[in-house]
Amino acid sequence: MKPALLLNASYEPLSVVDWKRAITLVLLGKAEMLSTHSHKIRSARRTYDLPSVLRLQRRVKIPRKRVHFSRKNVYRRDNYRCQYCGEKFPASRLTFDHVLPRSRGGETSWTNIVTSCQPCNRTKCSRTPEEASMPLLNEPTEPQWWPFSASAGNLDDHPEDWKPYLWM
Ligand SMILES: [Zn+2]
Repeated sequence: MKPALLLNASYEPLSVVDWKRAITLVLLGKAEMLSTHSHKIRSARRTYDLPSVLRLQRRVKIPRKRVHFSRKNVYRRDNYRCQYCGEKFPASRLTFDHVLPRSRGGETSWTNIVTSCQPCNRTKCSRTPEEASMPLLNEPTEPQWWPFSASAGNLDDHPEDWKPYLWM
């Protein structure tokens, strides 16, 4: 069954909830439906719209957490796209590239690590993007907290109607 994206009253994404919880929140008046899935749920007595995006009526406060720095999260931040050639790859074909090479004092941190495919990593070698004439697609930054579990995976795989909220 299709899950729903739950937004805070201020439209920031909070979590992904299953359809039962989504419908319950709507029936209890705790959330409003911003968009629905195309198919509906039928009970003996009535038909329910299946929520795809929900917004809480009252804002909940959530503590800001930092995103754990890891290889997987770097790939997620960069959307599994090589930051040099712009191609997308499965994680098994990606590597971690130090923008300023480690041999020259480059740190292993959010702001100096980007996702790179193996060929681009080999081509760039121990040069800076300028020296290698390989401009970066995006300047690497520390991502904002993701409300989704690691299993949420690739953001491109989410339904179209979720995307305006996820890219905020
Ligand atoms: Zn590449």
